Amino acid sequence: MHGHIAYLDHAATTPMRPEAVAAMLPFLTEHYGNPSGSHAAARHARLALDDAREEVAAALGAQPGEVVFTAGGTEADNLAITGVHARRPGTVLCPAAEHHAVLHTCAALGGRVVPTLPDATVDLDALADSLGPETSVVSVMLANNEVGTVTPLAEVAAVVRQHAPNAALHTDAVQAFAWLDVATLAAPADLVAVSAHKFGGPKGVGALVVRDGTPISPVLHGGGQERDRRSGTHNVAGIVALAAAMRATVATRRDTVERVAALRDRLADGLMEAVPGAVETGPRHSKVAGNCHLRFPGVESEALLILLDRERVCASAGSACASGAIEPSHVLVAMGLSASEANSSLRLSLGAASTDADVDLALQVVPKAVTQLAD
Ligand code: PLP
Repeated sequence: MHGHIAYLDHAATTPMRPEAVAAMLPFLTEHYGNPSGSHAAARHARLALDDAREEVAAALGAQPGEVVFTAGGTEADNLAITGVHARRPGTVLCPAAEHHAVLHTCAALGGRVVPTLPDATVDLDALADSLGPETSVVSVMLANNEVGTVTPLAEVAAVVRQHAPNAALHTDAVQAFAWLDVATLAAPADLVAVSAHKFGGPKGVGALVVRDGTPISPVLHGGGQERDRRSGTHNVAGIVALAAAMRATVATRRDTVERVAALRDRLADGLMEAVPGAVETGPRHSKVAGNCHLRFPGVESEALLILLDRERVCASAGSACASGAIEPSHVLVAMGLSASEANSSLRLSLGAASTDADVDLALQVVPKAVTQLAD
């Protein structure tokens, strides 16, 4: 066991699944054609792209023509919100606990932020009060990246349809796909964003579902790929790997959720027992299986992360996408936590690759490190 690294930061990114690596390699070597061309090499790439599109569409509960490949989750969120707003100018709304890819895009369009409940899901009453005929886009995430809570999207959609008949509903399902049946849960949304590297695919590739009838302008202008919704030469290897990672994720999702939830429960329960005063953030029953989020009052999470890193435990204090920030996480603040509560938090996020050995090491290292810092 000596030298084992407990990688507990799967919400930041995941190791690639071997199936995804194997799927992409031929498109980095012999099959390098540009799918927009008209010769044999191009056709080979085109066929692979078409197959991947069908697979991704099925996994997301969409039609192949509704899938737009992007360079990741951030671009998918930007395209959804900015692209629809360009065609339907009006007010853009999102809850305060969204990822910055959504929050900052809404801010750039002069949008409004809706309060969240203590569990990080949107306050539906406040949402209803904010909506109107002038609302053009509402963006509500399916699973939160920091505390893992899952939003009941059907309830959100009912409120949006009732109070904002002209609005499109976008959902950031980037953190959801590894754990949840996005095809079903995101069905009430007009737009759905995913990112391959959160479920065993490569970084820098994602997809946006744009349901037929949803008006959208491109954000990237150029050669007119993706039916003019996203220009740029296709990242064929990445797209093929995205589809392979989706296939592997969907095929094993039920078993993975059961196994990882048990690991997470052992980790969370063990740490709560070993560290007096530790507090769990958010109700566990409404979290995705891989999320363990705790607070250790009086302990600086930045210092804790350094000690954990020395002992080979990879964790996060908040969102890795906002690395370097010592300010309290906006998600925890949106949940009503004080700055000092937020700054004493630790996110341990498990994934399909997590094992008992990872949990064992964390259970051995985290309580010691917390005790050392609390002294
Ligand atoms: N949305 C959520 C909820 C995320 O967790 C992330 C990444 O951390 C993103 C969007 C951005 O995705 P990407 O890293 O593919 O740009």
